[in-house]
Amino acid sequence: MPGARMHPASGWRALRHGLVTLAILLLSACSTYDPRVLDIDRSIQAKSQNSRVELIVLHYTSAGNEASLKVLSQRNVSSHYLVTKEPHRHVYQLVAESRRAWHAGVAAWYERSDINSASIGIEIVNQGRENGQWEPYDPVQMQVVAALLHDIIRRHQIKPHNIVGHSDVAPQRKIDPGPLFPWKQLAQQGIGRWYDAAKAQEYEQDFLRNGLPDMAWTQKALQRAGYKTPQNGLLDKASMTGHKL
Ligand SMILES: [Zn+2]
Repeated sequence: MPGARMHPASGWRALRHGLVTLAILLLSACSTYDPRVLDIDRSIQAKSQNSRVELIVLHYTSAGNEASLKVLSQRNVSSHYLVTKEPHRHVYQLVAESRRAWHAGVAAWYERSDINSASIGIEIVNQGRENGQWEPYDPVQMQVVAALLHDIIRRHQIKPHNIVGHSDVAPQRKIDPGPLFPWKQLAQQGIGRWYDAAKAQEYEQDFLRNGLPDMAWTQKALQRAGYKTPQNGLLDKASMTGHKL
C-alpha cells in the first residue's frame, strides 16, 4: 500500500527532529557546568620546571628547646624546621616547605636578595656563645640535622654552594650557626662544601712569601664564593665579614 510507506522527505524531517532533540539534551547537560566551581585538570605536568627552593639556611637558636619553640611558632620570626637537643631530640616542622618562613631577614647570596622566598630555614637548638664560650654541637643532634638535610637536598636538588649559614647570607648582622658548626663533617657526608686543605696551604705559603693580595682580589674571591661584597678595593666593614673562608 503506497500510502503506508513514509515519504523520503518526512524521514529526513524525523531525523532532523531527532538531532535537534539530542542537541537540546546535550546543551541542557552542559548547562549544569558552573564556571564558579573551580575544576582544574592536573593530569598533565610540564617537563620544564624546578623547585622554588634553592637554598638551605642554617641557624642556631641561642635558646633552649621550650623557648626556641615558643619564639619560632608565636613571634614574628619562624623557620621551616626546628631541631631540638637533649633530653628530647625532635624535629618540628613549623612552616610548610611550600610557604615562606621568616628566618633570614635582610640577606643576600650570589645574585639573590630575597632569601626567605627561595630557602628552607633550619633552626638548631644551641646556645651559641654563652659567657664567652661557644656551645659544642651535640653529635646526635647533628645526625638528625644531616638526615634532614639529605632529605631536603634530594627533594629540591639543592646545590652544595647553596647550603649556607645565616652568617653567610647576612655577614654583617649574624654570626650563627657559629664557628663550632661542623661544616667539614657535613661536607664529608656529601652535604654542602668545604675547602681543599692542600690548596689553602698553597695559598698560605704564597701569601707568606709574597704578602697578602690586594683588597680588589680578596673582594672578587668573596664574591665568587657567594658573599655580597662591595667591589671597591677597600678594606671596609662589608669586606671583612667573609669569615668562613
Ligand atoms: Zn639565624
